[in-house]
Amino acid sequence: MPERSTESDSSVSAGAAFAAHPGATADLAAREAAATDRSGYVPASLPDAVVRCESVDDVVEALRLAHARGVPVVPRGAGTGLAAGASAHAGQVVVDVRGMNRILSIDPVEMVAVVEPGVLNAEVNAAAAEYGLFYAPDPASTAICSIGGNIATNAGGMWCAKYGVTRESVLGLRVVLADGRVLRTGRGTIKGVTGYDLTALLIGSEGTLGIVVEATLRLRPRPVRTETLAAYFPDVETAGRAASAITAARIQPSILELMDGPTLDAVDRAEGTRHRELGGAFLLAQTDGFGAHLELDEIVRAVEPFATSIRRAADEGEAAALVKARRDAIPALERLGRVSIGDIAMPRNRLADAFAGLEEIAARTGVRIFSVAHAADGNLHPIVVVGPDESITEGPAKAALGEMFHLAKRLGGTLTGEHGVGLLKREWVAEELGETSIELQHAIKAAFDPGGILNPGKAI
Ligand SMILES: Cc1cc2nc3c(=O)[nH]c(=O)nc-3n(C[C@H](O)[C@H](O)[C@H](O)COP(=O)(O)OP(=O)(O)OC[C@H]3O[C@@H](n4cnc5c(N)ncnc54)[C@H](O)[C@@H]3O)c2cc1C
Repeated sequence: MPERSTESDSSVSAGAAFAAHPGATADLAAREAAATDRSGYVPASLPDAVVRCESVDDVVEALRLAHARGVPVVPRGAGTGLAAGASAHAGQVVVDVRGMNRILSIDPVEMVAVVEPGVLNAEVNAAAAEYGLFYAPDPASTAICSIGGNIATNAGGMWCAKYGVTRESVLGLRVVLADGRVLRTGRGTIKGVTGYDLTALLIGSEGTLGIVVEATLRLRPRPVRTETLAAYFPDVETAGRAASAITAARIQPSILELMDGPTLDAVDRAEGTRHRELGGAFLLAQTDGFGAHLELDEIVRAVEPFATSIRRAADEGEAAALVKARRDAIPALERLGRVSIGDIAMPRNRLADAFAGLEEIAARTGVRIFSVAHAADGNLHPIVVVGPDESITEGPAKAALGEMFHLAKRLGGTLTGEHGVGLLKREWVAEELGETSIELQHAIKAAFDPGGILNPGKAI
């Protein structure tokens, strides 16, 4: 692992440019806290300063200063990212918007919320629940990640199986551009197609095109009824086949999540549960709506030929415990060592092939790979766990990440389904996108940020 320097390697500290900003600090603890995210990546040095913003004007002022001096800035939400997208090093300044955390309005008739970027995902859902509504994109990190970060990564989650990822739930944005101008995109209406869709372009742009300072979110009616089951299988490939069988049967679960045996072991050890006794892999399925019980019957029929055990939740408490087991997976693995989380996605009928391929990669590279998956989206998280002092950016862990991408590519898939490219996956982007797309993407970046000061070295 690189030795970290606390000194700036720029001849004039970038932080000095922000001395006039009321939210700026060069405090060592603040710079350490803002240097990386939950990806396991450790930058070799610390950012020069952190600018804590509490209003749109604070962000405008920060970007005007950065623009005037050509200082690179790294937008930061809650720092739960898994691709080192919010990591920052010497010569850079972090613009932290976590303090912009107000829910500005909820219109229960239009089912629309307007929020600041630092609001946590779960806080939006708690506020929406008071009106019988919910916000669908619910990452497993819902309690700790911000809406701004969700938008910047186009985050997914469990309910995305039925309701789509973040892009399907954001109607409009207010964004501060690299030179401090404020851009409004989209609208507050459910439909609207005037002009190019800049909202869609900004979602998933990983802080490289602008800083999100407000979002208009689409809410949905809370389902009248949900039904939940856990099915267990002898091994993860069989579980993958069962998940593909659900998709092939044209059933639409609202949640379809998969965990392999080693992950079940880790969850059991961390939480005192006993899932592993029931099988070598676990599939969590939930249906919702008036016909939820009928749809769940169909899921039982689809998975029965593969399963060793099927447990239908008797009540909401049991259903919540099953959902919690899946949410606990990454924190449980983080107890075992440093984790590097893959995020490949592939056609949903190739899940079993993907799990077989991952076993080969583990054998070839000698790394331990644990797997969880948003199975209904074909989105797999192969998780490499290394020792606390081992690197994830070189050696076997890095080699495994590259091999995972090539496996996904062979199966007709992609490098990242929801976590983003960040810093950690950038070397494979051009291979997936191709020359023409890369040229166009760099031209778009230059149009938004001609000086290249917004989150340089990330995403494309
Ligand atoms: C236990 C655990 C479970 C997780 N489960 C999921 C999951 O199920 N699905 C999923 O998609 N992700 C998941 N994640 C990853 C992470 O929570 C998401 O990527 C989340 O969207 C990041 O939000 P954040 O506020 O922490 O962003 P950060 O980590 O602070 O930043 C992420 C990226 O967004 C940019 N950014 C942040 N705020 C802004 C802004 N206001 N304007 C412009 N750019 C900005 C940053 O520069 C960076 O590139 C999980 C993480 C953990 C630790």
